Amino acid sequence: MPDLTQRLIEAMTEMPVIDAHEHLPPEAERVARDVDVFTLFGHYTHNDLISAGMTREQYDWLQDPSQDLDERWRVLEPFYARTRHTSYVRAARLAAQRFYELDIAADTYAEITERMKAANTPGIYERVLADACNIRVALTQVGRVVDDELLIAVLPLASLTANGNLGGLRANAERVGVELRGLDDCDALMEAVIAEHKRSGGVVGYKHVSTDLTTPDRATAAREFGAMLAGQEYDGRAVSDWLTHRALDLAGDAGLPVAVHCGIIWDNWNDFYDRHPRYMIPTALAHRGTRFDLYHAGIPWVREVGVMAKELPNCWLNLCWCHIISQRMSVSALDEWLDMVPLSKIIGFGGDYNKPVEKVYGHLVMAREDIAEVLAGRVERGTMRYGEALEAARMMLFDNPRELYGLEL
Ligand SMILES: [Zn+2]
Repeated sequence: MPDLTQRLIEAMTEMPVIDAHEHLPPEAERVARDVDVFTLFGHYTHNDLISAGMTREQYDWLQDPSQDLDERWRVLEPFYARTRHTSYVRAARLAAQRFYELDIAADTYAEITERMKAANTPGIYERVLADACNIRVALTQVGRVVDDELLIAVLPLASLTANGNLGGLRANAERVGVELRGLDDCDALMEAVIAEHKRSGGVVGYKHVSTDLTTPDRATAAREFGAMLAGQEYDGRAVSDWLTHRALDLAGDAGLPVAVHCGIIWDNWNDFYDRHPRYMIPTALAHRGTRFDLYHAGIPWVREVGVMAKELPNCWLNLCWCHIISQRMSVSALDEWLDMVPLSKIIGFGGDYNKPVEKVYGHLVMAREDIAEVLAGRVERGTMRYGEALEAARMMLFDNPRELYGLEL
């Protein structure tokens, strides 16, 4: 690794980090569950194992800690040989090396398992996230507010709209004390739910997905909503899409940003074109008072989202999940974005893990490498001074997500 890149990585290691996207549950849930070396192959790595020929049944069996460890390793081994150089697996290996002082291999998996079990105790989030990663807070998505010092929630937009499901809307209405007699009551209902979330102090945004959203007119939506309330047949998509549009506006009015899943899907056997970031263009144009945090560089459409963030003042770019999908793609995307997009709108890191918290560290090591490589290239070409590169790194890792999500740190 060139000296300048190395120097930047070392400087970045001292910087505070806001982990801008996770699925981490409260720590108590992680330590309540049994762990072993296969936990490090949970979340994302399954995607590569299955792509390499493992069956879903084999994968699920590998994830069962009550099964024989040696037998499971014998099943994993040929697939590990095929996938060990992907970015997903690299994060697992970096985590094993950092926390359990061993690389994952045939002669280490049993010892790694012993060490993981011993370390799966209260304080593991502090040790991994705060001590090893210098993470001040992680924005987590587990569908609810979480009581954990290091975590703060981003809730699904469906927590407002209930995806147009009448039972969900009625449950919300009852809880916040709004009478639901027709579409006209829905704004008040969703405003009351947003107010409830803000009062909790534990919600800093909502999560949407890039999807082909229709734009029903108000009369149609009111008619279909009325039919739903009357127990008649109705057009569920008209109701749901209407509420989604309203929720996006109301979130914007409340000053809460909306994170958006764009591009690549986490599992196998999907048509990822269904999540093309282009669906967010009409949505961002229609909701100019709402700030959108476009996730995952829209992989593989990294250039498309770059142009979107350049042209649309209400779109940010978030490299969460990206460095473990492809380090090379993340480097080239970030390098092009720095030419195109205001630096203040680029967010550099989000681990995007649930149970295997150790891999947040592996991912962050890779993120620092990618960011440092891009910035070092600019310093070498004379287009950026070293001090400016440090400032850019700090903005991407800390200042930008703090400002977008209004975090008081
Ligand atoms: Zn995610």
